[in-house]
Amino acid sequence: MEKHNFKKKYGQNFLNNEAVLDNIVELFDVDSDDKIIEVGPGAGALTKRLVHKGCSVTAFEIDESLKKFLDKINSDNLNVIYCDFLKINLNEYFSKKDKLFFVANIPYYITTPIITKFIDDDIIPNLMILMVQKEVGERLSAIPGTSDYAAITVILNYYFDINYEFTVDRKDFYPVPNVDSAIISLRKKENIISVKDISKFKKLVNDAFKQKRKNLRNNLKGYDLDIISKILYEYGFNLNNRAEDLGYEVFVHIVNSL
Ligand code: SAM
Repeated sequence: MEKHNFKKKYGQNFLNNEAVLDNIVELFDVDSDDKIIEVGPGAGALTKRLVHKGCSVTAFEIDESLKKFLDKINSDNLNVIYCDFLKINLNEYFSKKDKLFFVANIPYYITTPIITKFIDDDIIPNLMILMVQKEVGERLSAIPGTSDYAAITVILNYYFDINYEFTVDRKDFYPVPNVDSAIISLRKKENIISVKDISKFKKLVNDAFKQKRKNLRNNLKGYDLDIISKILYEYGFNLNNRAEDLGYEVFVHIVNSL
């Protein structure tokens, strides 16, 4: 590989284990008119494999000095855009009708902002395959009642079935980071129970988790607690429970009744 000046500020730890790269792309199949989105292609280790899937691949990379590597991937179905993915409007590149596959080995500090971006721009991929810090993987795939379960888990559970796929050892990267990673997959649910107002849903969930150690009565003070209490009762809960005890469907039911 040509010389590259690795930039810590962009979380540049490149995957250099061929078997792990193969295992990532084997997690899904695409049709020719599907679209793959990759964020942070780096020197293109994953990108090279993604273009072999045959559908279009759009890769967003913040560091233009990686162009010398990415230009070597000679493929008609690859489009590399050099920009900060967090600053784009996804609607300018993709439509809600597109069948999207989002694959990324991204720095851990932008994992949540990137996932949130898809949700805020209302472009929901059919599948997201993400390399995340192992602890983030555990939090995103947590189930109700566990301490890793958080507001983001509830919001993601509304759209996706989340799976912890496999752990990736820190030694599989160059430079070697000081944490292990994990591959998680988020598969869009076939039947999403719809909420009437998605922004109200997100606000309710975030408010319920505002102070993790406090119960629902305290965190949801500004809401109609009589209505909430009645719904909680139907699921075997009450206002003394904490947000982390509730599945996403309880929040959906509450917000649709308020
Ligand atoms: N995908 C490559 C691999 O697996 O070897 C590189 C992964 S490296 C952990 C993360 C990549 O994301 C780097 O190439 C970095 O420059 C890029 N990156 C970081 N922040 C970004 C952003 N906001 N938008 C687009 N790319 C970003």
